Order: sequence, then C-alpha cells, then structure tokens
Amino acid sequence: MRPSILYPLFAPISTIKGIGDKYAKLIHKLCGEKIMDILFHLPFNVIDRTFSSPLNQAIDNKIWTGIVTITEHLPPQTKKHPYRVYCTDGTSNLVLTFFKVYKDSIQKNYPVGSKRAISGKLEYFNGMWQMSHPDFVVSQERLKEIARLEPVYPLTAGLTNKMMLKLSKDALSRVPKLSEWQTSSSMKDFEYISFNDALSKVHNPKNVNDLSPLSIARRRLAYDELLSNQLALAFIRKKVKQIKGRSFIGNNELYQKVLSSLPFSLTSSQQEVLDEISKDQEAPYKMLRLLQGDVGAGKTVVALLSMLKVVEEGAQTALMAPTEILAKQHFESIKELCAGTGIEIALLTGKLRPSQKKEIYKNLASGKINILIGTHALFTNDVIFKDLGYVVIDEQHRFGVNQRLSLSQKGNLCDVLVMTATPIPRSLLLTAYGDMDYSKISELPKGRKPTKTVVMNVNKIPEIITSLKKKIEEGCRAYWVCPLVEESEKSDLSAATQRFEMLQEYFGDKVALVHGKMKEAEKDKVMEQFKSGEKTLLVATTVIEVGVNVKEATIMIIEHAERFGLAQLHQLRGRIKRGFLEGSCLLLYSYPISNISKERLNIMKQTEDGFFIAEKDLELRGGGEVLGTRQSGFTEFTIADMKYHQDLLIHARDDVKDILKQDPKLETPRGEALKILLYLFEQNEAVKTYLAG
Ligand code: ADP
Ligand code: MG
Repeated sequence: MRPSILYPLFAPISTIKGIGDKYAKLIHKLCGEKIMDILFHLPFNVIDRTFSSPLNQAIDNKIWTGIVTITEHLPPQTKKHPYRVYCTDGTSNLVLTFFKVYKDSIQKNYPVGSKRAISGKLEYFNGMWQMSHPDFVVSQERLKEIARLEPVYPLTAGLTNKMMLKLSKDALSRVPKLSEWQTSSSMKDFEYISFNDALSKVHNPKNVNDLSPLSIARRRLAYDELLSNQLALAFIRKKVKQIKGRSFIGNNELYQKVLSSLPFSLTSSQQEVLDEISKDQEAPYKMLRLLQGDVGAGKTVVALLSMLKVVEEGAQTALMAPTEILAKQHFESIKELCAGTGIEIALLTGKLRPSQKKEIYKNLASGKINILIGTHALFTNDVIFKDLGYVVIDEQHRFGVNQRLSLSQKGNLCDVLVMTATPIPRSLLLTAYGDMDYSKISELPKGRKPTKTVVMNVNKIPEIITSLKKKIEEGCRAYWVCPLVEESEKSDLSAATQRFEMLQEYFGDKVALVHGKMKEAEKDKVMEQFKSGEKTLLVATTVIEVGVNVKEATIMIIEHAERFGLAQLHQLRGRIKRGFLEGSCLLLYSYPISNISKERLNIMKQTEDGFFIAEKDLELRGGGEVLGTRQSGFTEFTIADMKYHQDLLIHARDDVKDILKQDPKLETPRGEALKILLYLFEQNEAVKTYLAG
C-alpha cells in the first residue's frame, strides 16, 4: 500500500483548481495523470523577464517587464486594424496592440487610469514603442511574480506555457516534506540539495545551465530515479535467488560424447561461460541468466552442451526461438551435433499436422523427448512436459523484466537461460536486465575473416549489379535488404517487390523475394531454395534479421541503410559471417542524409565489434533506440538520461549493494525513507512482492 504521505503526489491532475476534463486530457497526453507527472515534466528553456529599464532607455526586440499607467483605448475602425491601448511608464509612451481579442476582456484587463504590471516583447515601430499581445498583465503589486526567469515547458497543442507554469507552481506546493533517503556522502555530492529543493530548483531555473541534465538538481533527481530502479531490481533478484530450484549434476557422459564429436574445439570464452552456467545448474536454486555473445560467437553449441547435463539427469529441456525458420535451423544443427547419442529431439512448430502435434505431446508427457525445440508455441497449455528442468530462450531481446518472471514461473522450478546477440550497453544491462545473472562470450572462434563494409550512394546501383553478377557467377550468394518504412508496411513491401522485379531483369529466376507478409511455409520454401543454391540472390525485408545460417552467403547489400539502427545493421551483417569466407557488406544511403546518419554509417565501416557499435549508437541516438523500437520492454527513465547519467547508475548500483548488506529489510530510518522512494517511483511491485514476502 502506498504510504499516505505520498497521496498528494499521486492525486489526479484534475484536483488542481481550474483543470477540467479538457485540460486534464491534454496534460495526460503530454506527461501523465498525476501531480507527480507534472513535477517530473521539466522545462527545456527559460525566458528572461527581468529586463525593466525605463522605456526611454529600452532595447528593441527585448522582453520588457514593468508598470505602466493606462491612458487611452483606441478601438479598431475596421476588422483589419488592431485594438490599441495607450499607456506610459512616465518616461515614454507605449502602445499595446491586440488583434482579434474581445473588447470586454481588454477593457477589463486595462482600465483607463489604472496601473498595471505587464510583460512582453518590445518593438520600436513608427517612432513608438509597441507591444503586441503582452504575455502577462497583472496588478502592479504582483510585478515580482512576473519579473523573473520564466521556465518554458514542452507543450502540446491546446496547452499554453502559462498553464504549465500554473500547474507546476501548484504541484510544487503539494510536495510533502519527505525524509532523506540519500546518504550523507551522496548528499555532499549533490551539495545538500534535498529532493524537495531539487524539484523546486528544476522548475525555477536561474539560467540556461540550470536546464542541463548535468545541473546538480537534475542529477539529484536522476539519482533518485536510478536508485529506486536498482533497489527494486535487487529485491527481485534476491527473491529469484531464494526460489528453490533443482540441482543438476549429471554424469558427463552425453556431454563428453557430443563435445568430442564437435568439428572444432570450444573457444576459451565458450568454455568459461559453460562453467558459469554449470555452477548455476548444480546449485539448488533457480538459474536466471543472460548469455550475451556477438553474432557468430557460437551460442548454439553452448546452449546445447548446457542442456546435456539436464538430459543426463533424466529431465527435459526446451529451446525457444523467435521464428519458425530459426527454430527449424536450431533443430537441424542440434540433431546433427547429437547424432548417435540416442538423445531424442523434437521440433514443434505451428504448421505441424494435428496428428504430428499429438505424437509430440504424447512423447513429451511420457518423457521420451529429451530436447524440444520450437517457437513461443512451446508455452501453450497443450504442451505438457513430464519433467521440464531447463529452458533456453534464443535471441529474445523483446522481453521485459515482468515477462521474464512470468515465463520462468511457468516452468515451475526450471532454470532459464536467455541468449542474445544484441549488444546491450552496460547501462541497459544494469537496468533492464538487472534481475539476471550475466555471462558473455567475448571472443569469436578463430579464423573468422573480417567483413569488408563500404558506404555508397544508392545511385551506384547499376555498377553494383555488374559486379554482383560477376560474384554470383563465381558461386557467391547474396542478400539484398530493403528496409521497413515505419509509416506503412504496404509501401515497404512495394519497395521490396519493385527491387525484386528490377533485379529479375538481370538475374532471371535466380532471384527470390522473402518478406514478413508471407506465410511461414512460403518463407521456409524460399529460404530452402536460397540455402540449397537454387536461388542465389535473396531480396528481403528485414525478416532475415535473426539467426539465418547460410554459409555460402557472403554478400549483403542494404538499401536505405541510414534508416536502420546500428545494432540492427550489425545483426544483418552478421548473416554473412557464418562461414569462413570473407564477406562484403554494402551500405547504400540516399539523400537527404544528416551528418549524424553519415557518422553512424561510418562507424559500421570502421568496426565489427558489436559492443563498440552499441555504445556508439547509444551516444548518437540515445538509449531506447539501440535495440530497434522503443516498445522493446526496456526500462525508460523519466529524468535519468543514459547519455549523461551513466556514472550515477554505477553509484546507484554500489549504493544498493551497501543497502542490502546493512539494511536488507529496509528497517532503519534510511530504510524507511528508501521505501518511500520506491513508492515514489512506482516500484510498487518490488515493494509488495519482494520486500514484503
Ligand atoms: P550465434 O552465437 O550467432 O548463435 P552460432 O551458434 O550459430 O552463432 O555459431 C556460428 C557458427 O560458428 C556455427 O556454424 C557454429 O558451428 C560455429 N562455431 C561455434 N563455436 C565454434 C568454435 N569454437 N570454433 C569454430 N566454429 C564454431
Ligand atoms: Mg544463434
């Protein structure tokens, strides 16, 4: 239950006086529904309203704030003319002009003979100071309220900055006095600015520096947010660790058999990772581990070997792939690696006949099947294992923390390994994956040839086709990737289809087209034809992105490369690194292209290090984009920004380690304050489920 001290901050925005449904909706769209959301909606600019020299010394085009006496009204003669209000500050006259404003409201706001405080932009025109539509008009006693640095907020159509000023002022007045949750040493770093002071400072910037994410007040708030994230993850993780799991020791028989029949020896990095996994498997708690390895690092064989321990103990394992093509590919390569061992492997996909499915269900329930491979169909209700002990999820980077938890709960006590080739920058690792243990395959198998990458203008296509023709005649196979245009899948498809038709003129029936709108069976057929060499040029939308293994394919052409995320380009390029032949990758761009986009493409040219690429991408584009879409289930922060606050994240992580050591149940006064922090940033789940139980 949310502590009552926080109620004012979680009250709906409509509790602010003067906010009806219409505004509440707009504000909801802009930043959220609660008072808290307004407080975290930060200004991005300031308007200086402190200039108030006598008018006879004023400066053209500057915002002026001061007290004037209203002398005369001059209503317009025609609709085209403005309504004029004459006034003076005693040194010079000033004319206020209004277009399309009701006479009544002007007369009410500017009564002749009264003194009013006004603020707005001065313009010298026809030998006269003018101000059109003053931004503010208030009684002279309230001059101070407007003669200041005024924060400027991000807005949405229908909302004015004035409204936001009112809202933030009101919201600030509701912030309760909260006990400090930071340590005295952090407080020193933040110059002893409390949470309350920090909020008030960020909404009352004194200069542009105060708007920077690096300002002390913003850093303090970012730290609060990151600390709450790290603390919540730590509790979840601790809880997972306490879930009793099974201990799989095995007898090493199958493991040795498969290992000794591999056509290569494991890299030391693969071996290390296997050892880490094996420790988890032997320990009597549940494993929840992320295995990261660049494209082509050899994750599949690691997954398989780690499964064998479980099979040796007589339990079952499952491998879940994101697509049917990939599931099938895993099935084939694993079957080959396990040949002659007697291990029973099955592939479960959506397109099996009902009788085939039934057969699999039967053999799963009886325990005959040792390893089941498939897509997420593995987790439908029909699929009942006799004794599932271990689940490996491949290339699954679209899972959030909560989804992972629910998945591993399905498997009861089973261990879970999530494998990903998507390079995850450290900051995301700590936040979005902070609940998991982590292993990384850090080296590629020896002998891999580098891929040559070039960046070219799309108008070079005729030349490209000529040299591609030569290469294909020599026996190479190539991918031709057409991008997804976000606005419309339809127009994507037509772009890919057009390219396909154009290439047919040159390559005849050797070209094939594969795209996301095709049925699985059709896709499979095309991929088969490409694999077998019946087709040698594959035009594709990004459906080939993940995992496809065609060793002969060594050339990749990517159109509109500037529209892709770098991580995505890296994944795509990985498709031509499967074998031991040198690949070449052509990144085609079209105008207009921004400097940043050019810079990004050049990074692809310079390096094949996925981690470096991911970090660079993060720098150039900001966090959420790294993994493609923003809906990828990753934590996004409201205030913290990984471009600026990485150091704070590391501090927060270390801080949390201390907290867990010194006050694991949050019972000390600081602990109590930290609980409030968790609720403040809506880590309610963590508090409820993991701290309580
Ligand atoms: P990814 O990590 O991208 O899933 P895969 O597991 O598909 O990579 O492996 C890519 C290729 O490298 C496969 O053909 C696999 O057989 C091969 N491979 C895996 N480990 C090694 C190794 N230690 N030495 C040589 N080749 C290896
Ligand atoms: Mg793989």
